[in-house]
Formats: sequence, C-alpha cells, structure tokens
Amino acid sequence: TLGTDWALDWVARAAKTVSDHRIDLIELDRAIGDGDHGENMDRGFTAVTAKLATLRPDTVGDVLKTVATTLMSTVGGAAGPLYGTAFLRGAKAVDGELDAAGVASMLEAGLEGIRARGKAEAGEKTMVDAWGPAAEAARRAAEDGQGPAEALRAAADAAAAGSDATIPMVARKGRASYLGERSAGHRDPGAESSSLLLAAAAEAAE
Ligand code: ADP
Ligand code: MG
Ligand code: MG
Repeated sequence: TLGTDWALDWVARAAKTVSDHRIDLIELDRAIGDGDHGENMDRGFTAVTAKLATLRPDTVGDVLKTVATTLMSTVGGAAGPLYGTAFLRGAKAVDGELDAAGVASMLEAGLEGIRARGKAEAGEKTMVDAWGPAAEAARRAAEDGQGPAEALRAAADAAAAGSDATIPMVARKGRASYLGERSAGHRDPGAESSSLLLAAAAEAAE
C-alpha cells in the first residue's frame, strides 16, 4: 500500500516536473489562454514544498489537504481553485494507506471536485479530459486485481493520452473557449499539467 512517504515523494516529484516544464506550460497557455499556467503551477508547488517543509503530516490525507489549501491560496487563475478542490476532495476520499481501489477512489473524488467547481464535461478541452480517463483506468486496474502502483501507472498513461486527445478539441470552458474554433489544434495546458502530476504520482509509487 501507499502511505505518507509516497504522498510526500509524489509532491516533491510534482514540484520538480512542474518546474522543469514551466516554459512548456507557459507556451501551451500562450497559444490559447493568457500564458500564465506554467508560472501559476510553479508558484503553487514551490509554496507547497515550503509549507510541507515546516509540517510533519501524519497521513496521506494530511499531505493532500496541505497541497489543496496551499494551491488554493497561491496559484490563482482558474487552475488554483480547480486543483485545490481536486486535492481537497481527494484528501477526504483517502482513509489511511492506499491500495488500488483507494487510488481509484482518490482520483474519482478529485475528478468530481473539478467537475463540481468548473462544470466542464468530457470533450470540452480542459483538465477533465485528463482526469476522466485517469480515474477510469485506475478503477479498471483495481477491478482487475492490480496493485496501487499499477493503478497509478495506468492512470498516468491514460492522462497522457487524454492530454493528447485535447489537441483537436474545440474549447468550451475557460479562457480558451473565447477562441472558439481557433482553439482546435492546440493542447490544453491544464490537461497537460494534470498528466505531469499523475506521472509524478506513478513514479513515486515505483
Ligand atoms: P487562467 O485560465 O485563469 O489563466 P490557468 O492558465 O492557470 O488559469 O489554467 C488554465 C487551465 O484551467 C485550462 O487549460 C483548463 O485545463 C483549466 N480550466 C479552465 N476552466 C476550466 C473549467 N471550467 N473546468 C475545468 N478546467 C478548466
Ligand atoms: Mg492562464
Ligand atoms: Mg491567468
């Protein structure tokens, strides 16, 4: 099972990958938004790292709750409240350490938080298009009797494919929707950052 050490390693890897891809995320958002997504995410995860260094969270839920509240207060823009809600709902769904079913429940709760907050459906070119397939893949892995690391790997792979799938979509939510048809042909920045975060979660579980 995956415990607090995994959660802390996830956050550390998330902070690194967001920092490493800061420019990429900025360029994706510059094409169909206002160009701040990489900056927003890097600021948020830098603050999360600083916050966790001052705390000794006991549980996976405590780690995720700290991520949530810190992202909400530092990321700004659309992504701050969306990721904040996802991590908060994920924290509430977690009870102790995670098996594969626990991974699936955490991701499903995160997805529900994003949907509750942003009202986006699948196919509207948002982070929902990464989280939806990820949660489904994790649930399938759990039902197949796989372990939590396999469930996270399946989720991360599905999120990456989900991010790819946003390229031809026309945006119906968020700033990119102002472009209408002209948003097609570009990857959604939030779907890509979601894919990066889930890849970090899978790597931490290996
Ligand atoms: P802003 O658009 O306020 O500058 P960011 O650039 O940080 O915020 O985040 C943009 C990302 O947020 C988009 O790429 C998209 O994935 C996500 N997003 C925006 N609006 C919604 C929504 N209503 N539901 C889900 N995701 C959304
Ligand atoms: Mg932006
Ligand atoms: Mg902005």
